[in-house]
Amino acid sequence: MIRVAQALEIVRGACAARPVERVPLPEALGRVLAEDVASDVDWPPFDTSAMDGYAVRVAEAAAGPLSERAGLVAAGDPPPPPLSPGEAVRVMTGAPLPGGAEAVVPVEVARREAGSVKAEAAPSPGEHIRRRGESVRAGTTLVPRGSRLAPSDLSLAALAGADPIACHARPRVAIAVTGSELVPSDAVPGPGQLRDSNGPMLAALVRVRGGVPSVRRAVADEAEAVRRLFEEAGEDADLLVTSGGVSAGDLDLLPAAAERAGFEMLFHGVAMRPGKPVAFARRGRALWLGLPGNPVSSAVCFQLFGAMALDALSGVPDPGPRFVEARLERAVSVRGRRETYRDAVLSAEKGVLRVRALDTLGSHDLAAHGRANAAIRIPADAESLAEGALVECLSLRPLP
Ligand code: AMP
Ligand code: MG
Repeated sequence: MIRVAQALEIVRGACAARPVERVPLPEALGRVLAEDVASDVDWPPFDTSAMDGYAVRVAEAAAGPLSERAGLVAAGDPPPPPLSPGEAVRVMTGAPLPGGAEAVVPVEVARREAGSVKAEAAPSPGEHIRRRGESVRAGTTLVPRGSRLAPSDLSLAALAGADPIACHARPRVAIAVTGSELVPSDAVPGPGQLRDSNGPMLAALVRVRGGVPSVRRAVADEAEAVRRLFEEAGEDADLLVTSGGVSAGDLDLLPAAAERAGFEMLFHGVAMRPGKPVAFARRGRALWLGLPGNPVSSAVCFQLFGAMALDALSGVPDPGPRFVEARLERAVSVRGRRETYRDAVLSAEKGVLRVRALDTLGSHDLAAHGRANAAIRIPADAESLAEGALVECLSLRPLP
């Protein structure tokens, strides 16, 4: 059986970045940028005031009252004529400044009397002035290609006029849960039945990782239904993600059916817990990730192999799950010789990450998994994990 790291590399190698397309900025959140975004303007674009106040020359304002120019300059006005000697010009925040302005005296510290203005304290040079280009020079790269676009990246792209923006197409992911015991989440289970909890979770995980999920109808553990699933795979999706039916039981029909339908099995079985029976296969450009049905196995395997596949298909240059190091709050007992992912709670205390393993009944314990925000990676060769040891953690949700 291969190790997790090898399996991740196989997934990475099989997933090529999707084509580049130009999309309107509001649709770009979470996509991966395909070209550097460089600014075509300076930022700020002109010398401007940071406050509502008076544009002045420093020495003149220190010396005594200034004569106030009639009117005011607002944000959006064209640049006003330069300062005359002894003059103050009333400016609003964001207004272009008159030539010669060396500081802005905020209204709060300016005394205004019959056409003259007096600064209560002498301003220092440059005070409350934002100079053209002090933050960004035209031509500077603001967002490098390969970035997964976050809200702040969208604001930089907008500043630079990168709209529409060149991004990789989102991965299209078909999701099919398998198991004759499953009913939809809005149904009342009959005897021997249970609600499908993997389908909604997997669709959400795909979305969070920047993909477009399309959820198929649940597939019964019947040869014909499973055959059809693989016949149709790849028609309108880059990746088929299934849950269930990949272990060694009589009704675990998926791996053999995939091979019969022409898929090449890239791995089936990874030395890990939970998730040992996970499978990954390819037929032409169609990819299949077969997750075990137990909910925690499904979740952990998706957070590893699904994350790798979606990142790579999305065009992330350094794809794959992210790990952080944290100190164990309590010793963790090591059982067996398989790399283990243990549900845990990661928290920060005075800026230092600490992690606590959760008590769990096993890979069906959705309630324990629901309390976890991370999984501790216990290496296959770990002898013991003592309190205070540094461990690697797979982050399952954004930290608070
Ligand atoms: P399997 O991998 O098909 O043997 O499934 C293992 C167990 O996972 C089943 O006995 C179910 O209890 C559970 N299971 C499978 N699919 C789902 C699902 N979609 N939602 C919730 N539980 C599931
Ligand atoms: Mg099953």
